Amino acid sequence: ERMMSGEAQGTEEAEEFSLRPHTLGQYIGQTTVKENLRVFIEAATMREESLDHVLLYGPPGLGKTTLAMIIANEMGVQLRTTSGPAIERPGDLAAILTALEPGDVLFIDEIHRLPRAVEEVLYPAMEDFFLDIVIGKGPSARSIKLDLPPFTLVGATTRAGMLSAPLRDRFGVMSRLEYYTEPELREIVLRTADVMEVEIMNDASYEVARRSRGTPRIANRLLRRIRDFAQVKGDGSISSFITNEALDLLQVDKLGLDDIDHKLLKAMIERFRGGPVGLDTIAATIGEESHTIEDVYEPYLLQIGFIQRTPRGRIVTPAAYQHFHMEVPQ
Ligand code: ADP
Repeated sequence: ERMMSGEAQGTEEAEEFSLRPHTLGQYIGQTTVKENLRVFIEAATMREESLDHVLLYGPPGLGKTTLAMIIANEMGVQLRTTSGPAIERPGDLAAILTALEPGDVLFIDEIHRLPRAVEEVLYPAMEDFFLDIVIGKGPSARSIKLDLPPFTLVGATTRAGMLSAPLRDRFGVMSRLEYYTEPELREIVLRTADVMEVEIMNDASYEVARRSRGTPRIANRLLRRIRDFAQVKGDGSISSFITNEALDLLQVDKLGLDDIDHKLLKAMIERFRGGPVGLDTIAATIGEESHTIEDVYEPYLLQIGFIQRTPRGRIVTPAAYQHFHMEVPQ
């Protein structure tokens, strides 16, 4: 999300839509997840049933929302989109569920943030397709039961561990999205350039892929910014020269780490001698929310082996010291 802050809305939103793959065939990478979904979708279609509920989890920007849209598209049904924090009371959920058509996909982003009272209404809805809610207050309160059309819930979360066990148990399919490999990201970069109708040189496409932190959303954001540079400072086509210049100005380093990653690692190295240091302490030191660090920054730093989690806190690895040309302490 940090790459998005302060950006223009509107045209980029429209572009965002056209950048999203619309079928499983167009969806690059995540092979296992894709192959599984393909089978489940085909089986459900053959049985003329709704697809079992699907939980997608993994770091932001890896394509969870996109997959939800694709599932609805491949099943030939409508998609309804909402998010955990947006559903405040059981009545809000009831309004959404009763408006569904048979087979529809309901996508709930940030599902780990559903209020507990709402979650409880969701259980019977997911399991047996009925609603059991209390309306009114005090002596006039009564409970009503309503049948619901069969539907598929697609839930997305950055952390499956934060989901309550009863909710997690009600998903028939649980898929973890992984960071993309460089070749996969390069394919995404080329596809995005194609949709944006901008020319990109081969070596530039590799460079953007390498510096996108394994994340398609970041690849697309960077490409947009580089396109701006190419337009203003060059002839509009994206060369590796323009790419390097733009990414340096955006403070995205050779590994795709940005100023916040740098602040985080350097704080750990310089102020805590490489750790172990607790998440909340790091967060307070660099002035970021600890959940943002945990969801957005830490997973990639763990993935590339720059930090490790220990029972006593996070530690910086020698690889991170080397990245900053710093001597590894004894
Ligand atoms: P999430 O919901 O996990 O945060 P999104 O589904 O919003 O992520 O994806 C972010 C962006 O990355 C989207 O604009 C989409 O175009 C792009 N994207 C994600 N996954 C893929 C993929 N497998 N192939 C091509 N583009 C992708």
